[in-house]
Amino acid sequence: MLHLDMDAFYASVEQRDAPELKGRPVIVGGSPERRGVVCAASYEARQFGIRSAMPSRTAARLCPSGVFLPPRMDQYRAESVEIFRLVAATGVRVEQVSVDEAYLEATHVVPPIGGDPDERLEAAMPLARELKAAIRSLRGLTASIGIASNKLLAKLASDFRKPDGLMLITDRECSAFLRPLACRALHGVGAVTADVLARSGLNTIGDLQDHPGDLRALLGSFGPVLKRYALGQDDRPLELGDEIKTISSETTFERDTADRPTLRAVLREQAGEIAAKLQRRRLAARTVQVKVRYGDFTTLTRQFSVEEPLADPAEIYRIACWLLGRDQLVRRPLRLLGVGVSGVNETGPSQLVLSLGSIR
Ligand SMILES: [Mg+2]
Repeated sequence: MLHLDMDAFYASVEQRDAPELKGRPVIVGGSPERRGVVCAASYEARQFGIRSAMPSRTAARLCPSGVFLPPRMDQYRAESVEIFRLVAATGVRVEQVSVDEAYLEATHVVPPIGGDPDERLEAAMPLARELKAAIRSLRGLTASIGIASNKLLAKLASDFRKPDGLMLITDRECSAFLRPLACRALHGVGAVTADVLARSGLNTIGDLQDHPGDLRALLGSFGPVLKRYALGQDDRPLELGDEIKTISSETTFERDTADRPTLRAVLREQAGEIAAKLQRRRLAARTVQVKVRYGDFTTLTRQFSVEEPLADPAEIYRIACWLLGRDQLVRRPLRLLGVGVSGVNETGPSQLVLSLGSIR
């Protein structure tokens, strides 16, 4: 299993297309003057502590020399199509997770050598190198690739050596590799679960490995699953269906309203509801959308995508408020107001960055 993840994708596309931006902190998102939200940041900008879903004004304060650019989503999507054309040409089976991230199953395209599973992983290295080289020379962008025997480890491997990384985790090494990492690095462990574990003194994956029980007492049915993850075991298959998952919440008002405090309160409640659903299912989303309907049943939707998946109610609320304000959607009273998230998938790479940061 390979995990391919483009490095700071949106910002890297901007830097490639405008070479004078190379080496500079590039922040893709809304403008700080217009109460915008950060959608992606280059590695130079990340060094200032900037991350997606942060208010642009905060980003401008942290990094006064930052170059703010409006997102060009059509450009990023078109770039993604080109990249995945190169991926498809290798013959691997692909589960695309987002515009810039995918799991690739290479079992049938890697020549079988011997019976040793770790040697078979090694045999996938040339394929990964060729793919990285093709993306670099034909698209002018860098990708990180992780190789391992399952999704969990492949994703950790691609995150670990970013940017422009290539890392293989063998079955033999995986337990030792996992030991020092924070529990949050594991798939499905968000802030809430990490808190529950920390209160029982379980901070690193090593703590989970050494824990005598199957964690059911602490985490219910997720406990045994997490215990297996901590040992590097994961049997999730490639998901090839491209079903679009959306979670949304809508409110129809008894009487049409343009009252800001009322609308804000409704929005806050809806954002909370969506965040709770995401967190319960251990998911995160990349796109937030708002929907408004006026008295004459005209319906408008607006959406905004961030590069790092989010599941935080305050972040969903902030982006929804900003979308309503940006396009002045509340100039007339509303009959209906709704918030939704899409681009929903497993809790994202930002958590690994956080957890690695915290143990260094
Ligand atoms: Mg990426």
